[in-house]
Amino acid sequence: MLLTQEQQTKQTDNQSTIALPVMEAFYTIQGEGAHTGRAAYFIRLGGCDVGCHWCDVKESWDADAHPKQSIDALVKGALQYPGRLAVITGGEPLMHDLTALTEALQVAGFKTNIETSGVCQTVTGSWDWICFSPKKFKKPNPAIYEKADELKVIIYNQSDFAFAESFVPYLRPDCKLFLQSEWGRSNEMLPRIVDYVKDHPQWQISLQTHKFLNIP
Ligand code: SF4
Repeated sequence: MLLTQEQQTKQTDNQSTIALPVMEAFYTIQGEGAHTGRAAYFIRLGGCDVGCHWCDVKESWDADAHPKQSIDALVKGALQYPGRLAVITGGEPLMHDLTALTEALQVAGFKTNIETSGVCQTVTGSWDWICFSPKKFKKPNPAIYEKADELKVIIYNQSDFAFAESFVPYLRPDCKLFLQSEWGRSNEMLPRIVDYVKDHPQWQISLQTHKFLNIP
């Protein structure tokens, strides 16, 4: 992406002044969804008001509990490693304006991926890949539907299959469709997901492979 001189100057200002609450940032292997198996720098931002009872990162919910880091520091952190895929996750990362962060990452040579529940009013940021992961506990904003490159629905119980299907008519035809068992329910739900995908081959299984690999 080429920026004008004016945009570059504005971006430099933003990089040193804008700060985001960061729960953790780490280099690992993307374990889920369409980019499974790729080396990636994860930035987990604080703040989420969706309230999934099975959430495995409840510590992320309170944005104020996490120290803020400048865009500069975040990009520098990512540049320490050879991979050039950055995954912004949370919490619900779109609670924050991600324009400056994503532009700075792209200028530094990163592809920018996000995982979002889609509940926020606006979709800020410059994204190479949007994983839309809706939750039953808070309705998504339909603005996310056309932008989603990937739909990933967590299957906790049987009714989640219908919940997953309810989004399909609104998505782009090239949007990838994934079903992923909630980790603690794998014994019961994985066999049902296998059967479902065999009967509905437009869907794929997403496994939390990082958990099998015992990596973050
Ligand atoms: S949207 Fe994600 S971070 Fe927020 S409560 Fe649900 S699982 Fe947790």
